[in-house]
Amino acid sequence: MGSVGISGSDRDYLRLAVDRAREALHAGDDPFGTVLVDEDGTVLFSDRNRVVSDSNPMRHPEFTAAEWAVANLSATGRARCTVYTSGEHCPMCAAAHGWAGLGRIVYATSATQFASWAAGDGRPPSPVAPVRIREILPGIVVDGPDPSLAGEVRELHRRA
Ligand SMILES: [Zn+2]
Repeated sequence: MGSVGISGSDRDYLRLAVDRAREALHAGDDPFGTVLVDEDGTVLFSDRNRVVSDSNPMRHPEFTAAEWAVANLSATGRARCTVYTSGEHCPMCAAAHGWAGLGRIVYATSATQFASWAAGDGRPPSPVAPVRIREILPGIVVDGPDPSLAGEVRELHRRA
């Protein structure tokens, strides 16, 4: 369904998501963070990656945001929410977003950027193919990446 471009207020929410990613790094988890915002701009939920602290490789914040939204919002409310995230959703999280019926997605850095950084850092490739959100969720408005945040997110991943 295309994209609408990243606004100044979008960037403020992306910055919150990157702050959660930094928290995750400091806690020993992978540096990813997510913020769920309603149509009035209120932050309803945010989370960070917890794959190490919860000993659960599926504890991605985009997934917990979808779970929270299903438990706490109506279908109409979910469709009006925007999910801001430090890194583009993986296929698992993109599918959860779609099944939950959430709205727009804005990400700071792309799955393509992450894959190239991981390769450059000598990390093993992800067991899950980096299929883009737009291929999994053709009906969702998706914006990203935001070049102004790439350097900061890249540095978090370098330190991970
Ligand atoms: Zn994920």
